[in-house]
Amino acid sequence: MVEKDKGAGIDDFIEWFLDENEEMTKPKPKEIVLMKKICMLGDPAVGKTSLIARFVYSIFDDKYLETIGAKVTKRVMALTHVPTGQNFRLKLMLWDIAGRKTLEHVRSSYHREAEGGLLVCDVTRRSTLENMDKWLGSFFSVTGEVPVVFIANKTDLHQDAQFGEKEVAALARKYNSPYVLTSAKTGENVEESFRELGRRIIQRYLDNRPQKPAEQGQ
Ligand code: GDP
Ligand code: MG
Repeated sequence: MVEKDKGAGIDDFIEWFLDENEEMTKPKPKEIVLMKKICMLGDPAVGKTSLIARFVYSIFDDKYLETIGAKVTKRVMALTHVPTGQNFRLKLMLWDIAGRKTLEHVRSSYHREAEGGLLVCDVTRRSTLENMDKWLGSFFSVTGEVPVVFIANKTDLHQDAQFGEKEVAALARKYNSPYVLTSAKTGENVEESFRELGRRIIQRYLDNRPQKPAEQGQ
């Protein structure tokens, strides 16, 4: 199924997620296949694991069990770059921090070779927003500048919110990156946040690709 992109940001892509059967099919001729490590970043209990659980299995379990070690899950995205007609198959390898680790407890090996990040804060705790700079600084010190998306999670708890969209937008603007307001509980915008990151990753790939003479000056 093809869903038209309704999100803000890059409109040059049509993208969708493959189900398990579609993942097994051979890539189309000339389809570019990429595999990228993505890190979930943010303070304990902001909802990193819940967002992944919602995205990968489409369920939300309040009793989600804490995992041991970094847990890696996979989801495959298909994208068409509309202006060129180029098709991509993007394998997102989603790395999640085990348990309730603060930034001090995250090793640099967690970040190593990551090519994208989802920075998650919790709208009911302002400190989780304030810590985003530190999470990003630590991440970029290992990976260099790679595409990131800011996520303000738990929007279903709006009555307890300690900050709003304005603050998240200001933070995202500082890093020239998109932001998404999500609820892992209701599922609102969860998929959109992963789509946004996928589009950015492919855009970066296209920007860094050596240009053919015919493409120059476009
Ligand atoms: P992590 O430490 O960042 O991986 O956070 P978890 O995913 O373990 O979530 C921490 C707690 O917040 C759990 O009790 C979740 O059920 C709860 N939680 C996560 N996302 C949401 C959300 O969007 N809304 C609400 N109400 N609770 C959430
Ligand atoms: Mg977790």
